[in-house]
Amino acid sequence: MGKKVVIIGAGVSGVSAGIYALQAGYSVEIYEKNKMPGGECTGWNRQGYHIDNCIHFLVGCNKDEQLYKMWENLGVISDSLKIYREPYFYCMNMDGITLHLWSDLEKARKEFLELAPEDYKELNLFFDCAKTLECVKPPCDYSIAHMNPLQFIKLGMSMKDASKAINEYGKQSIEEFVNRFKNHYIRAMFKNYFNSNFNALSLVASYAFFTSNTAAIPEGGSVGLVGRMLAKFESLGGKLHLGINIVKINIVDSQVVSILGNNGEVIKSDNYIWCADPHYLFYNLIDEKYLDKNLRYMYDNPQGYVSNTCYQVAFGIATEEDLKLPKGSIIFPCDEYDVAGETHNFCGMRVFDYDETLFPMEKRVIQCNILQNDENYAYWFRLKNKISLYNQEKQRLADDLRLRIEKKYPQLEGKLIVLGTYSPVTFTTWCNAYKGGYMSFNPQKGYKNKYVKSTIKGLNNLYLASQWIQTSGGLPIAAASGKFAIDIMKSSR
Ligand SMILES: Cc1cc2nc3c(=O)[nH]c(=O)nc-3n(C[C@H](O)[C@H](O)[C@H](O)COP(=O)(O)OP(=O)(O)OC[C@H]3O[C@@H](n4cnc5c(N)ncnc54)[C@H](O)[C@@H]3O)c2cc1C
Repeated sequence: MGKKVVIIGAGVSGVSAGIYALQAGYSVEIYEKNKMPGGECTGWNRQGYHIDNCIHFLVGCNKDEQLYKMWENLGVISDSLKIYREPYFYCMNMDGITLHLWSDLEKARKEFLELAPEDYKELNLFFDCAKTLECVKPPCDYSIAHMNPLQFIKLGMSMKDASKAINEYGKQSIEEFVNRFKNHYIRAMFKNYFNSNFNALSLVASYAFFTSNTAAIPEGGSVGLVGRMLAKFESLGGKLHLGINIVKINIVDSQVVSILGNNGEVIKSDNYIWCADPHYLFYNLIDEKYLDKNLRYMYDNPQGYVSNTCYQVAFGIATEEDLKLPKGSIIFPCDEYDVAGETHNFCGMRVFDYDETLFPMEKRVIQCNILQNDENYAYWFRLKNKISLYNQEKQRLADDLRLRIEKKYPQLEGKLIVLGTYSPVTFTTWCNAYKGGYMSFNPQKGYKNKYVKSTIKGLNNLYLASQWIQTSGGLPIAAASGKFAIDIMKSSR
């Protein structure tokens, strides 16, 4: 068609938009501020170890689903690619008792019921609801924000089995959900994975991703996923420019006429797609008057829409010995420690040992990821202004966590090397992420899911993609948002 599309941001949404635009016959160039593509879906090497920053699980790894087809089209998944399926969502070890949210739902139900027969009714409800939520998948055919009534009804019908779970848990916080159970261990299991103000439905729905076999990890992790997407993009003729920060957007008569790179390059195109955090666009590069009404509502109601962010530390395990560590994600009680002024008494860690190409026996990694909210972000942001204190605090926390892991697993004593620590501010620096958000907004009790259009009212040739088009975010939403932006752009030609 000879029409040119310029994409800003080479995260998963940007490269996805690039592939769909090329497949629709456009010529495409992507501009990315970092020296490497991937955005938040990234990983890096430290001291010979690999730190996978992103994929704990990728939804869409089940062949029968529409999402699988999207990942296949983007080059992310193929029949020949190895997929790692974890035995459980997460487990808890406490006082010698281990509880697992097994991917095999009936196995988990049995384990939970044996431990807590007094919670028979609530446990059965939880597992029954998880089963019914297996039909819920992030949408990838049509953008919910642009759906016509018929498409909306079709979506509603496809999720009708989930209505019981949505009614039961959709308006409940984790804290309220936990209070439904009597057993001390069941309460601890559900209380200490997500933050207490999270919506209970996120916990049940995330578990359902495991029981329905859609959540898994493709070989090569986050870097592998992005690398395969980029190979597809380039094989179709797309061009990627790295290390160019877009610092200005020039608008004349409701049209973007050019954008400016920090290297002074003036970039002209017929269409532009913003595939990065929209807060940065609307509050730094274009007039706030263009702001989507749903996004504005979420920015204006931070008590209802909390950004998901985290403090992270990665440890290398300096031995080839089989240390008999648990698989995947585990939580356990520990001595108290403070993070951003709040006291914690549980530790969550994840063992990275499943993918030989990234984590061979002599290079296994443990990461702790402590969920942080807006207030915690403000704490880290203030601290970052005093860089030595900021670094000291990150290191202090890493040491505290190392001691707690070593106490729990004495076989690790003296074998953990701190590879790196990351605060919520890291994601702002790396990706211009609003409040360090690594997923999109997390709606709190009483606040509804919101959807953001790919179009911008008042601007004819600038479109939006990114995980922020939908609450919760994540890789499937980011990738689908790229497709939606191209679908809408094609239809508005
Ligand atoms: C620790 C962590 C764990 C996660 N775990 C999972 C998981 O297990 N499963 C899952 O599905 N998701 C997970 N996610 C979320 C997932 O990484 C994101 O949803 C997804 O990568 C977001 O993609 P995006 O394209 O919307 O945005 P981004 O990744 O933010 O990409 C935007 C890109 O735009 C660039 N950019 C910004 N401003 C400019 C500018 N002015 N000029 C040029 N370029 C610019 C940025 O540098 C960035 O590369 C995790 C994220 C993190 C950080």
